[in-house]
Amino acid sequence: MSAAEERDTESALIEKAKRVLPGGTFGNFPGDVVIREGRGGRVWDESGKEYVDFLLGSGPMLVGHAHPEVTAAAQAVVARGTTFFANNRYGIDLAEAIVDAVPCAEQVRFVSTGSEADLYAMRAARAFRRRDKIIKFEGGYHGMSDYSLMSLAPKRPGNFPQPIPDSAGIPRSLRDEILIAPFNDLEVVAGLVREHRDELAGVIVEPFQRIIPPAPGFLEGLRRITAENGVVLIFDEVVTGFRLAYGGAQEYYGVVPDLCTLGKVIGGGFPLAAIAGRAEIMAHFDRSAVGDDGFLMQVGTLSGNPVAAAAGLATLEILKRPGAYERIFATGRELMDLAFILALPDPGDQDPNDFADSEEIIRMLVPDLERPHGISSIRWLCVHVADLRRLRAEREERERIAREELEVLKRKRTAELVDAFMHSTPDNGEDIQF
Ligand code: PMP
Repeated sequence: MSAAEERDTESALIEKAKRVLPGGTFGNFPGDVVIREGRGGRVWDESGKEYVDFLLGSGPMLVGHAHPEVTAAAQAVVARGTTFFANNRYGIDLAEAIVDAVPCAEQVRFVSTGSEADLYAMRAARAFRRRDKIIKFEGGYHGMSDYSLMSLAPKRPGNFPQPIPDSAGIPRSLRDEILIAPFNDLEVVAGLVREHRDELAGVIVEPFQRIIPPAPGFLEGLRRITAENGVVLIFDEVVTGFRLAYGGAQEYYGVVPDLCTLGKVIGGGFPLAAIAGRAEIMAHFDRSAVGDDGFLMQVGTLSGNPVAAAAGLATLEILKRPGAYERIFATGRELMDLAFILALPDPGDQDPNDFADSEEIIRMLVPDLERPHGISSIRWLCVHVADLRRLRAEREERERIAREELEVLKRKRTAELVDAFMHSTPDNGEDIQF
């Protein structure tokens, strides 16, 4: 244990973080827990508390934390120098592995984060088409660039196609360059593509948007509309790449975009991401192929970093083994069913984001969680649980209203029958048969 580790307890670290980090966090997750280490499907905090980890580093740790093969691959490279700026064999081999696996990938350009990959994929579409506008979908996540942070979680949804910036500090002028469409609504997208075809460079989409699967025919329709109008289709596969299938969502759904972005899994837990796609478009990264006018400038100090590439290659080797995806899907299904079970108890006052209450239930129901799982995010699970609870509450409310309406109807009908009876006695001059 280092001197710093001996000095600071978890609560001291949390206090220190509050002093030196805005909001006391790195910006991703609440700062009230400090993770010390992870192994397989579990992590431990600095106080030694053990957690079942549904987060998996927000995706990269698909084969589990500190997987011995990934660790060994990274360590072997670390000992021989960690970055060179120049080409290295691990990055070249990883690019080849991506070209072999991902249907749209004829060539690959490495960067360090998914945000960068999306930014450059949009730039490549603009350079290729020599047009400026990009369509993105409401609720779609494409990282933190000024272009991407539009209508991710708009306060006023449905203002199509006007984008609503999600952050302070985004120039007003950029609003003219992004058009927002509703996910899974092919008709609206088709209308927008046709209307703006002369100024539209590309459409960027998460093929499986956050927790929303594509409606049947949606991705196929996007492919058709973009191809017909000469617009570049970009799949953001930062999450789905090597995850929904070894070849990503494009293999899983059988729809091949022009470009895709990759991240998370391909870096094996280190910073690495990529833009991949048709050679004709990727050529814009190469001045000698397209000349000064078409050249897309892109440089990054750590791009194709050898440690990250070696860890990524080791991760892909594990995922290539027979049965890997069957296991990921089976575990994911098991956890989704579990989420359903968790949704069943009376919601009461329990905050669905407070997962601590549910951890014991998970341990009881899934005792063998020390393994990679198909869903990576505790937030995902919470959203799912919250959703199911909301749906159930709404259904119960509808049933209650229906029961009340039935009661009112019954009372009204009884009153009508009594009334009819009273007014149809022989005194009333009518002939009644009993
Ligand atoms: N695209 C998608 C679909 C993502 O989920 C993410 C990250 N969650 C990104 C892009 C951005 O990746 P990064 O955090 O590496 O910048």
